[in-house]
Amino acid sequence: MKPAPFEYLAATSAAEAAEALAAANGDGKIIAGGQSLMPMINFRLVKPTILIDINRIAGLDRIEKHGERLRIGATVRHRMTATDALVHRHIPILHDAMHHVAHLTVRNRGTFCGSVCHADPAAEMPVMTLLLDGTITALSIRGERQIAASDFFVGSLMTALEPDEFVTSIDIDTLPPETGWGFEEFSRRHGDFALACVATTLRIVDGVAGDVRFGMMGVGETPLRLPDIETLVEGQAISEMLLQDVSETLKGLLHPNTDIHASADYRLHLAGALARRALRDAWTRATLRKDGADA
Ligand SMILES: Cc1cc2nc3c(=O)[nH]c(=O)nc-3n(C[C@H](O)[C@H](O)[C@H](O)COP(=O)(O)OP(=O)(O)OC[C@H]3O[C@@H](n4cnc5c(N)ncnc54)[C@H](O)[C@@H]3O)c2cc1C
Repeated sequence: MKPAPFEYLAATSAAEAAEALAAANGDGKIIAGGQSLMPMINFRLVKPTILIDINRIAGLDRIEKHGERLRIGATVRHRMTATDALVHRHIPILHDAMHHVAHLTVRNRGTFCGSVCHADPAAEMPVMTLLLDGTITALSIRGERQIAASDFFVGSLMTALEPDEFVTSIDIDTLPPETGWGFEEFSRRHGDFALACVATTLRIVDGVAGDVRFGMMGVGETPLRLPDIETLVEGQAISEMLLQDVSETLKGLLHPNTDIHASADYRLHLAGALARRALRDAWTRATLRKDGADA
């Protein structure tokens, strides 16, 4: 299908983009990589009156370290995140996760922030933003506002952004060097969206797990952070008995949908299996890193 007619503005400043979005009265759309938006426009699932291209706005194409956080600008491509030295060094779990995202052609255009704004519940960037306590910076003609990742994802493909706001950058935590991580995803073919995925990080403090983070995607309407699992693992050494306990607890916490890709039961089964693998990996890496080996 061909898209419905729309106007196009290549904004050259963030202020110009914010003004155009406000003037569109809720009918404007920001375009970043276009990898999700263009198919939706071509299928006429969305019919914006104006597309506001943010790719020519200077300064949004950077990944920078600010204290213990990395700031990812709105036009940073998946390929840049996947190959960036700061990401590799300070957030190795994100480096790992990026290799599960689509294929090279999509990674060359798609943006980290665009994926977070698109808010697909089976996409890697939203769950990583949640796991790493992200803060989303949104701009409108009313000024800038910061939104915690925990408040940002409100439903499948739905976020807390107002229609006249767009994202200029996202800040995420870096991880202390001795942190271990596990990222386990199952999809039918490499590069497909996940049927289920677990992302977890932990440190070993006095022989037990500390600073545990546990996130999932593909098993709900939004990416999930699961504090019940974090509390269960915190203060414990990873053992087969604990991993069994984690799988059983997940069955009570998750309510995945059945769809054409997988049944709810299958997703629950995957959740338990992936959680066990990811926690084992995180523990092994944390042990190696504590001992000074390169994990
Ligand atoms: C074949 C294929 C396979 C894919 N596989 C995967 C996969 O395995 N994992 C995965 O995570 N993704 C996958 N994707 C999606 C891909 O990662 C997209 O690039 C991403 O979801 C959207 O990023 P984008 O920059 O292209 O955004 P766009 O397509 O430009 O925009 C998407 C939506 O976000 C909004 N938006 C974009 N940027 C901003 C902003 N700065 N502020 C406010 N709103 C904004 C747009 O208005 C639009 O509503 C796949 C896509 C394709 C085509």
